[in-house]
Parts: sequence; C-alpha cells; structure tokens
Amino acid sequence: MNTPFDITLLARKNVRQLTPYQSARRLGGNGSVWLNANEYPTAPDFTFNEKNLNRYPECQPVNVINRYAAYAGVQPEQVLVSRGADEAIELLIRAFCEPGKDAVLYCPPTYGMYSVSAETFGVEQRVVPALADWEPDVKAIASQLDNVKLIYLCSPNNPTGNIVDPSLIREVLALAKDKAIVAIDEAYIEFCPQASLVTWLKEYPNLVILRTLSKAFALAGLRCGFALANSPVIELLLKVIAPYPLSTPVADIAAQALTDQGIEAMKQRVTEIVRNRTYLADALKNLPNVEQVYCSETNYILVKFTDADCVFRSLWEQGIILRDQQRQYGLAGCLRISIGTRQECDSVITAIKNRQTANV
Ligand SMILES: *Cc1c(COP(=O)(O)O)cnc(C)c1O
Repeated sequence: MNTPFDITLLARKNVRQLTPYQSARRLGGNGSVWLNANEYPTAPDFTFNEKNLNRYPECQPVNVINRYAAYAGVQPEQVLVSRGADEAIELLIRAFCEPGKDAVLYCPPTYGMYSVSAETFGVEQRVVPALADWEPDVKAIASQLDNVKLIYLCSPNNPTGNIVDPSLIREVLALAKDKAIVAIDEAYIEFCPQASLVTWLKEYPNLVILRTLSKAFALAGLRCGFALANSPVIELLLKVIAPYPLSTPVADIAAQALTDQGIEAMKQRVTEIVRNRTYLADALKNLPNVEQVYCSETNYILVKFTDADCVFRSLWEQGIILRDQQRQYGLAGCLRISIGTRQECDSVITAIKNRQTANV
C-alpha cells in the first residue's frame, strides 16, 4: 500500500509545533452576549467614500497617518499604521530579532500574541513572570537580558487591567539602553489616557508604543493599529511591512474614525464603558462566589471566582461567552469579562446567580 506523504513534514519545525493564538472567534461558542474579546458591544456607523478600488492603496495612507499623529501628539514620521496592533507586534520581531540567536522578553500573565509571534518566527522567548502585584520583576529582567532584542510590556495590561508603574518602565528602558527595543502595548490607553508614555519618545530612541483602533474606537473588525516611535525605528519597520498592508476601505474608515467628531464619539464610548465597568464590578463584589474583582483601567475586568469552571461553562450554556484565563500564569480561578452594554452587564449577573440556584 502506498501511504500518502504527510505534507506537514515539509513545514518548519517551529510551525509544526506552534499552537495558534486562541482568538475569541476561533474558540467558537453559540453566544448572544460576546464578552470575550474586549470589543465594543455595538457597531459605529461609517460611509464609504473611496470608490477607486481599481488602484492599489497607499502603503501608509497620509490622512490616517496625519490624523493619528495629531491625535497622539507626535510627528507624522513617528507613526506607522499596520493591519492591527498584532501586525506591529510581528513587524518588531521581523525587524529586530534574528531567529535562533536573539530573544524576546515578556512578563506573563499578559497578552498572548507576543509569544505566538516569537514562536512563528523561531525566536527564543525569555519569559519573566510578573510579581504578585503584576508589576514587572525588574531584577529578574536585568538578569535575563542576554541576547534580548525586544521587550514587550503591556500597559494597561491584558488580562489583569492594571497600569504598569512608569518608574519601573523607566528602569527597564535604562537596562535596555543601546541593547533592545522596549515596546509598550497601549491597546487600552484610551480608557486611561493620562497613563500614556508617548511623551517619552523624546527621551528614548529604543521606545516603541503600540496602539489600535480595535478597542475604544470600536473597530476590531477593521484591523487597524499603529506603532509610534522615533523615525529611525519607523524606517526599519517600513522595510519589513507588506507593500499594501491596509486596503482602501480600511484607510477610508480609519481616517473617518480619527476626525474630531470620531475622536469625540470615542471619548463618549469610553465614558459609557467606564460607567458600566463600575456598575458590573460593584454587582460582582456582592456575589458569594466572587473572591476578587481586580481594579481595571480598561474595558474589561478580571474576576477571581471560587468556582470559575462552573461559572464559565454555565454562562457559556446560557449564551454568554467570557474569556477563561485560568491557564495563564498566576491566574487560577480567573475569568476575564469584557464590559458590554448595561443590559449585557445585567445578564452576566443574572446568569451567575442562576448558576448558583441551579447548583444548590
Ligand atoms: C486587542 C489587543 C491587541 C491587538 O489589537 P489589534 O489592533 O486588534 O490587532 C494588541 N495588544 C493587546 C494588549 C490587546 O489586547
């Protein structure tokens, strides 16, 4: 008998071993209430103005770059626009890390794509767990910096919701001086704009700040993100980016989202989400199976339950999809809940209470 050739044997070793990012969409579920991907719960409205789809788009659409620069308070040459912040995470590895030689460093519990992107490119991962208060362990980082070219710090951190102490980030930047890029992932910064480190770009040539339109701008489906850095770093990233990373409709809608009116609408969404976050956190704190509701500066909250598996499964069955964080470092018993509409917050509380009566 002729056994068919296993085509997967042709793949690179690290790709064969790779577990792809378990995105909220990949995990499935038959939900009516989606609180697992930190999306905004309702869709903003846009019009399509650019009809010239016979033409290739600009690599770096000028309107988007100029408006984001003005919004972020930087110069246009300090902005790179990418297919979501996820692409920028990857571009940094492609531009700075030699596979089999250099390493990236990150501090779990944190966002999963740093690891997935490093693995995809066959770049070593230096994993330095955060301390009990979820601040970076600067001493441990200092002792683990050999061959590290790129350090990812997420602030506010996903999934814990805390802002990283800026004085510790200064220490990391000092350690990385002339050796490594420090990328601060500010995907949720619109929920705590005072915490942005964007003004530090003046002082640090190795600082990169990652941003996105997916969260507070309510455009996760658009796939549009940004890297902010000094122009020598931006120039390097432009060498490795695809020739047409953003389609014409994406650039069109992103430019609309970044008008004064679009930014005002974003700020109103932030106010509403923050109000709902307080409401949901207060209600959760009154439930007997809630051990801790962690402080959050974002559009989600991390909650420690005495019976997290039961809550997760029971809400899943009731059509409410949360994000299970129990396999993350240090997060036993923890689920992450995105802040939805007021009604969705209420349905979470009701569903958790239903689980309790169902369990008695
Ligand atoms: C959502 C998220 C991203 C990805 O943003 P996209 O622009 O949608 O790719 C990056 N970093 C963190 C911490 C996130 O939570």
